[in-house]
Amino acid sequence: KPVIVAIDGPSGTGKSSTSKAVAAQLGLSYLDTGAQYRAITWWMVNNDVDLADPTAVAAVAGKPEIVSGTDPAHPTITVDGVDVAGPIRTQEVTSKVSAVSAVPEVRARITELQRSLAAAAEHGIVVEGRDIGTTVLPDADLKIFLTASPEARAARRSGELRNADVHATREALIKRDAADSSRKTSPLAKADDAVEVDTTELTLAQVIECVVTLVEG
Ligand code: C5P
Repeated sequence: KPVIVAIDGPSGTGKSSTSKAVAAQLGLSYLDTGAQYRAITWWMVNNDVDLADPTAVAAVAGKPEIVSGTDPAHPTITVDGVDVAGPIRTQEVTSKVSAVSAVPEVRARITELQRSLAAAAEHGIVVEGRDIGTTVLPDADLKIFLTASPEARAARRSGELRNADVHATREALIKRDAADSSRKTSPLAKADDAVEVDTTELTLAQVIECVVTLVEG
């Protein structure tokens, strides 16, 4: 039976690196759901949709075709056939994604994509996000909720961005997490049956080992 692993948590907890490595080690598919929300946000920005108007966002939520490649060694994301792996990581998209992902029509659309990708994964899949264990795949075989101190999260993100400004990164991160945690539809949350792993004092290798051990049960 294919194994379904849900890995949720705020940004900077090592979710992506952990999820990709666990999937690769166990021969499972991998899905970065944040990339899907970033992709639809990128499309809206490119098409001059007024992101301050949820009705305008909802009206076009079904328009872009978003395709995710689920090989953990080579994850891909395209919008209407265009490779957007780079453009979805800009500061502009990062600062706007929470407003787009809060719109219920956007979530319904993306959630449907996520469920069909999970159902199609032959050997199983590691799905990382914010609401995977609570909403998208509530019957997952294993649910992990990653946490870390705000300082550790900001430091990791700054490292990734090769950006010395840890303070600004920390502020932006806290703002995005607050928005993601307070939206009405499927907020960032730990499922009751999720295993919480605090990664503040752990190396990436230790987090990966911990999750692999939990999957192998
Ligand atoms: O994981 P990442 O930081 O790339 O996610 C980008 C954004 O996508 C989050 O800040 C959140 O607004 C949204 N998101 C979401 N639900 C998910 C995954 C991401 O709302 N399952």
